Amino acid sequence: MVARIIDGKRLGAEIEEELKSRVSRMVSSSRAPHLVVVIVGDDPASHVYVRNKERACKRIGIRSTRYDLPGDSVQDDLVSLIQELNDDQDVDGILVQSPLPSSFDEIGITEMIRPDKDVDGFHPINLGRIVTGKTDGMLPCTPSGIMRMLESTGESLAGKKALVIGRSRIVGMPAALLLAQRGIDATVTIAHSRSKELELLCRDSDVLIAAVGRPGMVPREWVKDGAIVIDVGINRVKSEGGSKLIGDVDEGASEYAKWITPVPGGVGPMTISMLMTNTVRAAESRLC
Ligand code: NAD
Repeated sequence: MVARIIDGKRLGAEIEEELKSRVSRMVSSSRAPHLVVVIVGDDPASHVYVRNKERACKRIGIRSTRYDLPGDSVQDDLVSLIQELNDDQDVDGILVQSPLPSSFDEIGITEMIRPDKDVDGFHPINLGRIVTGKTDGMLPCTPSGIMRMLESTGESLAGKKALVIGRSRIVGMPAALLLAQRGIDATVTIAHSRSKELELLCRDSDVLIAAVGRPGMVPREWVKDGAIVIDVGINRVKSEGGSKLIGDVDEGASEYAKWITPVPGGVGPMTISMLMTNTVRAAESRLC
């Protein structure tokens, strides 16, 4: 079997088209949605991520403002800025780019952002809503992007065995909750660094979500024939030309899977599309 590709770039572009018309309706009735991105320090990868988010805003017609805080800022500087942005009626979404310098309490900062402006979907209220089965609010972007990719295959997940490798607050755990929700109805297993017999778990899974950050940790032979594979991992490795990005799943897994996401061009672009979706949704609930 040669897997069909779940093309995150193409799917993301379709989502952007739909968002563009929602934004233009908002512009004619009130104003454009407004996303504020805050970045602390000069981590090069974070600056690339922020630039990509700003470009997406531009494509869709979302106004974006960026605050660059110097690397020697302190928690209180960021706290005052967030308080200001929380109170600003002209701001619909607030995103603080992770990682923050180690002196910051990142979770504390997340908890300070007003839940209805938390376009990353990381506030405990937004994460907690998923547990209660409410999926109409600010969903964390990577997990909701994963769900949109699965939906795009047209495959029913009801009763299917889904394995999520990784249990992080922002990817693995919410992805597992979304897969298990009523209406999706997968039977979910969460594997993590202390899990045993990962190979057996993988071989038994109809849906495999790999979100660890270890290049090629899932060998092709572990993928069940006909499985759906979502590779969340982004790993920069050395290659002939310098370096390249690869996922957590061996590229050869497409010989076994029915559907697979590429890296790059899979989950990455979908994460940005979901951020844009949250921003438009936040603005609509404030202005419409
Ligand atoms: P994390 O480091 O917070 O979590 C990694 C998880 O992997 C942990 O829960 C850990 O228990 C688990 N793990 C570690 N070793 C393991 C092992 N040997 N077997 C099974 N599980 C193991 O990482 P994260 O933020 O969840 O990100 C995971 C990966 O996804 C990274 O490569 C990250 O770059 C990527 N990512 C991609 C996007 C995207 O948009 N494509 C977004 C977020 C994260």
